[in-house]
Amino acid sequence: MNLILLFPEDMVTDERARITGRRLRHVLDVHRAGVGDDLVVGLLGGRIGRGRVTRLDEAVLDMDVRFDRDPPAKLPLTVILALPRPKVLRRVLHSLSVMGVGRIVLVNAARVEKSYWQTPFLAADAIERQLVLGLEQSRDTVLPDVLLKQRFRPFVEDELPAMIKGSLSLVAHPGGVATCPRDVLGPATLAVGPEGGFVPYEIEKLVSLGFTLVSLGERVLNVETAIPALISRLF
Ligand code: SAH
Repeated sequence: MNLILLFPEDMVTDERARITGRRLRHVLDVHRAGVGDDLVVGLLGGRIGRGRVTRLDEAVLDMDVRFDRDPPAKLPLTVILALPRPKVLRRVLHSLSVMGVGRIVLVNAARVEKSYWQTPFLAADAIERQLVLGLEQSRDTVLPDVLLKQRFRPFVEDELPAMIKGSLSLVAHPGGVATCPRDVLGPATLAVGPEGGFVPYEIEKLVSLGFTLVSLGERVLNVETAIPALISRLF
């Protein structure tokens, strides 16, 4: 936890915060902070600053806080991800949040197991938990937007065209014709397939909207490896 993310309900006044629970435990056990120490804090959706510890015991951590800088800019990137299996989903949400992705769309695809949509990890609070852990890791305060699209075709036909306007649109595909570009300057949309890959119909649909197939080579990577590798080439 490189930043303690503060929620509106943690703020006792504009300049004083009180935290308990997981974050308190972390400060006690990992930071091993004491009264008078400064901790990096950020207000959810807002600015970053310092919290000076005024009380710290097994029950509460009180801080005088001062916010003086903006969080890092989000990547102008939308990741469209075929819903992975629950354990992978959790880790991928965390790493997308760490990397600063602005928007995440979890979409159905032919090779997504139907049961994956029933996982408790898709509940709003479970998603937020992973995203918050990512923000705390990367010293950010702004949650990425997460959209769930349980039907591929209506999403792609009715919503995706407007979503990709003005963005470079790419489908990651092992062995795809073009190599994934580096250092794109503007907004981008990156579609990543399920474990079994996108089926030809899905690829054709995306290509018909203007998506380009891009590859990191012939090696078939798992989603968790492919995503950070793709993002770090793009930005
Ligand atoms: N058997 C599938 C592999 C899917 S891997 C197939 O051959 O298509 C899951 C997803 O990770 C892929 O759909 C793709 O989006 C991404 N991916 C994996 N390896 C990749 C590579 N070498 N280049 C680009 N994307 C890759």
